[in-house]
Amino acid sequence: MPNQNKDYYRILGVARDATPDEIKKAYRRLALKYHPDRNPGSKEAEEKFKEAAEAYEVLHDPEKRRLYDLYGHEGVSSTGFTGFHDFTDIFRTFSDIFEDLFGFGGFGTARETRVQAGSDLRYDLVLDFLDATLGTEVTIEVPRLINCRTCGGTGAKPGARKIRCPQCGGRGVVTRTHGIFQITTTCSRCGGLREFISESCPTCQGQGQVREKKKLKVKIPPGMESGTHLIMAGEGNEGRFGGPPGDLYIILQVRPHELFRREGFDLRLEVPISFVQAALGTRLTIPTLTGSQEITIPPGTQPGEIIRLKNEGVPYPKGSRRGDLLVQVKVTIPTRLTPRQEELLRELAKEESNSQKPNLTAAPSDPPGEEGLLKKLWKTVTHWHSD
Ligand SMILES: [Zn+2]
Ligand SMILES: [Zn+2]
Repeated sequence: MPNQNKDYYRILGVARDATPDEIKKAYRRLALKYHPDRNPGSKEAEEKFKEAAEAYEVLHDPEKRRLYDLYGHEGVSSTGFTGFHDFTDIFRTFSDIFEDLFGFGGFGTARETRVQAGSDLRYDLVLDFLDATLGTEVTIEVPRLINCRTCGGTGAKPGARKIRCPQCGGRGVVTRTHGIFQITTTCSRCGGLREFISESCPTCQGQGQVREKKKLKVKIPPGMESGTHLIMAGEGNEGRFGGPPGDLYIILQVRPHELFRREGFDLRLEVPISFVQAALGTRLTIPTLTGSQEITIPPGTQPGEIIRLKNEGVPYPKGSRRGDLLVQVKVTIPTRLTPRQEELLRELAKEESNSQKPNLTAAPSDPPGEEGLLKKLWKTVTHWHSD
C-alpha cells in the first residue's frame, strides 16, 4: 500500500517545486545508496529503497504528481496506484534508471539461459461426420520441437565446455564509449547468452532443440462438432532448461453429412415422400446414425411435419444420453405425369369440387391402407431408402 504518512518530497529530499530533472537525480542517488546489493540484509535500507521508489513513481509522473499536490495520498490512490510489492517490481518499472546506474543502458540486452516453458501447438483435425458424432480413435503426427538428445538441449558438442564469453567478459553486452555517450549493444560473439560454446552440437547446430514428428493416438469422444478443442496436456513443444512442455490444442473440423444435419444434440433428417404417400400414410425405412429403422408416416401428414424418434440423435460426450432424430417430411409434387396418372388426377379434382368439404384424409371412401382412389394413383411410389 502507498505510504499514507510520509511526504514524497521529503523522502526524495527535494523542494515542492523541484523540476522533473531534479526529482530524477534525487531518486537515482537514493536508489544507489539503498540498493539491496549494497546493503545486504538491511531491513532499514530495504524500507528506504521501497519508499524512494514509491515517491519517485508518483512525483515523476505529471498527472500523479498533480493529484498528489492537490489531494495528497488519496488523490494518488484514485489512479489505482498501490505502491510496490517487491524489488523485481521496482527494477522492472524503472529499468531505464537501473540500466543507467549499472551500465546496462542503451539498446543491448543480455539473454538468459533460464527455464523456459515449451510453447503450445495447434493441430487442425478433419473428421468425418459419423466419426465425430459417434466417437473414434485416430492417430496423428504432430511436428514439434524437442530438446536435442545429443547435447541434452545445451547446444554444445558433447565434451565441449561452456566458457565465459571472452568478448563481453560474461556480461552479454558490450559497451563502447563515443565521446560523452556510452553505447551498449548485445554481444555479437555469444549473442547475449554470456557464455560461449567453443564447439556447437552437430545434431542441432547449437540450437539446443530439433524438430521431430510425434505419433499420437487421439481418442475422439462422441458428440464432437466443428470448432471443438481437444487439449492434450504436455504434448506441445518441449520446454528448455528444465521448463515444462506446452500443450497440444486439437481443433476439430467436421465434414457435413449428406443426409443428417446437427441441431445441438438432435439430428434432422429430411425424408421426401410423394403427396400420395403423405395423404394415405405409409411405412418407410429410414437411415439412422447406427443403422436403419422403420417408421410410420400417418395418413394426412403435412409437408414439413416432424416425426421425433427419441434417443436416436447425437450421443453426449459423457454418459449414455442421446438427442433425438427429427424426421422431417418433405412432400414432393410430380413434375411429369403419364396419361393414366393425369386422368386419375382429373377424376380426383372433379371429386373434390363436388365434395362440400374437401378433406383427403377424412374421406370415408378412402380409408388408409386400403385400395382407394388415391392409392391407385401411383403405380410407382418414391420410396426413401426402403426395400
Ligand atoms: Zn544438440
Ligand atoms: Zn559475449
